[in-house]
Amino acid sequence: MRIVDNPECPLCGGVSSHDDAFFPEHTDGLPVDTVRSMFHPVGLHWGCYLTWPGRAEFARRLFTRLVDGAGGLWGRAHVDDRVAVLVSIIEPHALQLVLAETGRRVAVAPTDWERWRLAPELVAPQCHPAEREALRRVLAPVWARFPDAAALVAGTDWAGSERHLYEWPRRAEPGAAPDRGGMS
Ligand SMILES: [Zn+2]
Repeated sequence: MRIVDNPECPLCGGVSSHDDAFFPEHTDGLPVDTVRSMFHPVGLHWGCYLTWPGRAEFARRLFTRLVDGAGGLWGRAHVDDRVAVLVSIIEPHALQLVLAETGRRVAVAPTDWERWRLAPELVAPQCHPAEREALRRVLAPVWARFPDAAALVAGTDWAGSERHLYEWPRRAEPGAAPDRGGMS
């Protein structure tokens, strides 16, 4: 079977472009034919998506799903109704931003967190301008709380993550006084 590669925009029925479309991670709530969407990537024209009356609800559903489904490898540094900042349990603590405006998640290197705060015009170059604008707006109060990646990590809620499974090497570090008994 040949899989046709052209993305399709279910909002207008047209063909969209890999370079200029939003590719949702889930399609629940979109007017798509489930079987057809298995063979045609669903790529929403940005113009269609941003003006679609159903976007707020659809993006909200994506946001909730991405945040709640992030899994045990992620802690939560910040979650409000506009953005979530998730922190990887494994050093060097990669970041994940989930944006409620469009329902997209963005992978961020820890060093970019502070770099973007100092120069917001550099935020998420891979994203659509509307998303970059939204990110700058919703991240401003989060940057104020957590000016750099170290502050983010220190302020992260690890409950529900699997971080405790990765903590044993720290306890064995010199100075942590592991009781091995009689080895001195
Ligand atoms: Zn379209």
